[in-house]
Amino acid sequence: MTMINGFTATDAERLSATERALIERRERTLGPAYRLFYEHPLHIVRGEGVWLYDADGKRYLDAYNNVASIGHCHPHVVNALHAQAQVLNTHTRYLHEGILDYAEKLLATFPPALNQVMFTCTGSEANDLALRIARQHTGGTGLIVTELAYHGVTEQIAAASPSLGAGVPLGDFVRTVRAPDAYRLGAENVARLFAEDVRAAIDDLRRCGIKPAALLLDGIFASDGVLADPAGFMQQAVALAREEGLLYIADEVQSGFARTGAHMWGFERHGLQPDIVTLGKPMGNGQPIAAAVVRAEVLEAFGRNARYFNTFGGNPVSCAAANAVLEVIQGEDLLSNCAAIGAYFKAGLQGLAERYPLIGDVRGAGLFVGVELVTDRVSKAPATEATRQVVNGLRERGVLISSAGPAANILKIRPQLIFQREHADLFIDTLDSVLRDLG
Ligand code: PMP
Repeated sequence: MTMINGFTATDAERLSATERALIERRERTLGPAYRLFYEHPLHIVRGEGVWLYDADGKRYLDAYNNVASIGHCHPHVVNALHAQAQVLNTHTRYLHEGILDYAEKLLATFPPALNQVMFTCTGSEANDLALRIARQHTGGTGLIVTELAYHGVTEQIAAASPSLGAGVPLGDFVRTVRAPDAYRLGAENVARLFAEDVRAAIDDLRRCGIKPAALLLDGIFASDGVLADPAGFMQQAVALAREEGLLYIADEVQSGFARTGAHMWGFERHGLQPDIVTLGKPMGNGQPIAAAVVRAEVLEAFGRNARYFNTFGGNPVSCAAANAVLEVIQGEDLLSNCAAIGAYFKAGLQGLAERYPLIGDVRGAGLFVGVELVTDRVSKAPATEATRQVVNGLRERGVLISSAGPAANILKIRPQLIFQREHADLFIDTLDSVLRDLG
């Protein structure tokens, strides 16, 4: 059996003729940099609510997709897109109510000091813009991120995304700090160690003649392994960075829009007030819209020196979609649902942890959950191979998640905000059966 790029002989045997043809076409036309999920890749053709459907009509419970966060193809969003696309879709260099209505509604969800918003198409662009704004405001260039952070794909931001691995070198302007991992460092130590690491990073930048500009932190440390607790642990580090003249940029691409339950924004859980907040993924439920929300005084220098135009960012159709998303989050009270179902779901996972020693830790906030698998609870040695089997086993049984963390041994679970108890129960029962079969 020939090896299809990245697939072992056994994986390849499972592929249908259609799947094999699609993989070959992808590789021929999209080139070698793309990666597919799962050992047996999925051919998804339709989505509705919490479900994704493959080409054979088999349905999958989507517990991973943090883009269609209010449900796949939500009718309110689809209708808003359709209605606006029939009337006008231009850009931000004409007067238009759509962008302003949405911007005002969005800003109303932030602390009053975060009072201006600039639109982009992707989270990467939002982080890139945030970095440019921070550099203009501080006159510095240095950036501090966590050791396995992911912030995006532009050249500057990829150079500040250590999770991309050794093939994408960190920039000279970047310093990393340890992931604030309560499970491994101890909940009582996290705040202090995190602040100490930030202090060391600032000192090191200065020793190298680089003036620090900002501390850029993912509100749930998704790629570092889903690190949410203890709430408030970032305060010491952020206060210290501020005293040293750095800005605090909150990357809410993962943790924003009600994901962490009870709060609209991840930084609120930690009692923080960022200087810049970047948004993306769930903002348009699939329509490409992202943003940087900025304090007016922080934006002033950038606005004076630079002209900003983003051809597609904030166009009328994207703003209509994003507006509909906010209406659904607020109208269907998804904050409360996320908090309530998140707690119910986590309790179910903790029940499994009592029965399976493989589960070392269950953590997260709202409907962003991490389950760390270990070969032994004392040494906490990562169960990387078992994690791979669980992720693929769930996929075979119709439940979609992925993994994260330095050893890829943390189940990364992000169900839609519309999850109900029946969906949580189905997830728990399926995970139970996969773990049972693993032995
Ligand atoms: N920040 C974080 C925390 C992310 O997870 C991502 C995407 N995975 C980005 C930024 C980049 O967003 P995009 O893919 O829309 O450029």
